[in-house]
Amino acid sequence: MGIFVKLFNKIMINLILFGKPGSGKGTQAEFVKNKYGLVHISTGDVFRYNISKQTELGLLAKSYMEKGDLVPDNVTIKMLEAEVNKSLNANGFIFDGFPRTTHQAEILDDFLKKKDLSITMTIALEVDEAILIERLINRGKESGRIDDQDKSKIKNRFDEYNNKTSQLTEYYKHQNKFYSVEGTGEIEQITQRIYNLIDSKV
Ligand code: AMP
Repeated sequence: MGIFVKLFNKIMINLILFGKPGSGKGTQAEFVKNKYGLVHISTGDVFRYNISKQTELGLLAKSYMEKGDLVPDNVTIKMLEAEVNKSLNANGFIFDGFPRTTHQAEILDDFLKKKDLSITMTIALEVDEAILIERLINRGKESGRIDDQDKSKIKNRFDEYNNKTSQLTEYYKHQNKFYSVEGTGEIEQITQRIYNLIDSKV
């Protein structure tokens, strides 16, 4: 019987990785994705891909991203739902960069509920802004990302996070799904902290 439960009751892990720009969400999401067999959805990466291909979605997102503003919810939510719908037979999802507003979080909960899914836990990577500015400026030099190259744009992205995204802490604490991890130190140490946290809860 046990084996059937294991075979048929597939365990889904749906994670949200939070953190200010440069906190290492993308890097850590790749490790977590591989270890737990999840599908990684980074809204920033999807936007950048669409900008590089000059799609309609890319053109819509470009001016907001270049200033460091959030792309409007209606555009972002439609795109996110399409990305989830592409991979419905996955073991679970790791959302990186979404949700960023309470409205997005509510919509995500409703959307997953309709598919009999839910968020398992949310993990925030905590890093001081002074360290992040240094990391982002270095990343901007290597990648050419416009929003990483200018301190006023970086500052605007921090403001967007502090004004809109940080409210999500309360939203997920209320659901008993919020955890944070120290995001400084060696990359492998941070990854291990995240694995320990996931393994202790799932
Ligand atoms: P990221 O790669 O996550 O740092 O995102 C880069 C930029 O993409 C952000 O500064 C926003 O302009 C845009 N973006 C990414 N995800 C979202 C989202 N969930 N809502 C609105 N804008 C987003």
